[in-house]
Amino acid sequence: MTSVNEISVVPPMTAAGAEVPATREATAGGIPGQPGAITEPSGPPAGTCPSALPPPGGGPYLNPQLYAVLVHRFGHVRVVNKGQPMVVGIATINDRPSPDVRSPGETYKICCPWCHDFKFHFRVAHGFGTVHAETGRRIYYARCFRCEKGGRDLFELLGQARLGRVALPAPSPLIQPQPEDAYRTPGDCANLLDPMYPGAAKACTYLAGRGLDPKFVSEVYGWRYCWRGDPQTMHGGCAGRIIMPVTRDGVEVGWQARLAYDPPQDRKDHDFTAIRWLTMPGTGWRSKNLIGYDQAKAYEFCILVEGPTDMARQGPPCIGSLGQTMSHAQFELIASTWGTGKGVIVMGDAGANEDRVVAKTVHELRQRCTCPVWAPRLPHGDPGSWERREFMQFITAFVSANPRGTVHDEAQVAG
Ligand SMILES: [Zn+2]
Repeated sequence: MTSVNEISVVPPMTAAGAEVPATREATAGGIPGQPGAITEPSGPPAGTCPSALPPPGGGPYLNPQLYAVLVHRFGHVRVVNKGQPMVVGIATINDRPSPDVRSPGETYKICCPWCHDFKFHFRVAHGFGTVHAETGRRIYYARCFRCEKGGRDLFELLGQARLGRVALPAPSPLIQPQPEDAYRTPGDCANLLDPMYPGAAKACTYLAGRGLDPKFVSEVYGWRYCWRGDPQTMHGGCAGRIIMPVTRDGVEVGWQARLAYDPPQDRKDHDFTAIRWLTMPGTGWRSKNLIGYDQAKAYEFCILVEGPTDMARQGPPCIGSLGQTMSHAQFELIASTWGTGKGVIVMGDAGANEDRVVAKTVHELRQRCTCPVWAPRLPHGDPGSWERREFMQFITAFVSANPRGTVHDEAQVAG
């Protein structure tokens, strides 16, 4: 469940670990600042292999192949933090473990091909385009500091096939183990209802649009608005987000952070700024906790729903699992808190796959609880789209009709 290699470095391509002062810039491939034809890069001549290019001046670089591709494509490349390794941790983004670049190390600067930049505003980490061993996901750490273009845009521009050849050796040596579950602040936050923050007002509008009462989620669940992201946490990416804290016995142990708007379809989850959900880094805290637990624990029963918005729409005693799969610790927590009470209710959205997930969850809970376990299926929509009064009436009716508990399909549980 938890990863020991929380932090790893991408080791140098070359054996030569030349120490160069971090701030020194090495320029190669021409006169810096010379625009040339950079604004409209053209493809490489057919049959040209990056590794066949003459060795660039000022080397060796940590990723000479990527460097060569960039020189070939953009003409001028500057190098900063030469020789410094990339430090990569693991963050959970949209429920998946993803590489979290804490420090890019050696970085190649090019003139951004998208915004008529002549001043090398586009920075490309030397580990760009490589696959992160621990998560199996590609690192897209590159960005223009003038326009919104990022690593994925560059990756498309350069072509996946070409970059496939720019493979670094598998990262790994552990350099700086962080305490598992270390709490990290999302940044400076304000009350959602604080009129001093226009962003908070926008967030309230967004919540209201999803049927959530900003006052309720603020008072009952402590949701707040992050107006300045902590640069140490996901590069400040929590700025402008709604922070949904996860508490355990009154102590905040983690959070999820939702964009305060829905990005347009073509930008959805496209880069870091458009990712809808961020979760505090670390896997341990998340697998041991449930969102809404503190608010629900005094009840004799609980209702497990899919995510924070469903939970907040219906209020206590709803709880959320913080991910698509649940851990043993989470099942144990439910069983020890409600398993000897009146019952545990598991909600799922409609759909065949969802049924399987619900059936498995019910199965796990039945192993641990002495109380009945119910899995009512809503006739339409999900818990986030129901009025609380009707939702509770539906559940009450379902429970009274099935006093010993039910599942959707007994056969699926057996399998
Ligand atoms: Zn740009």
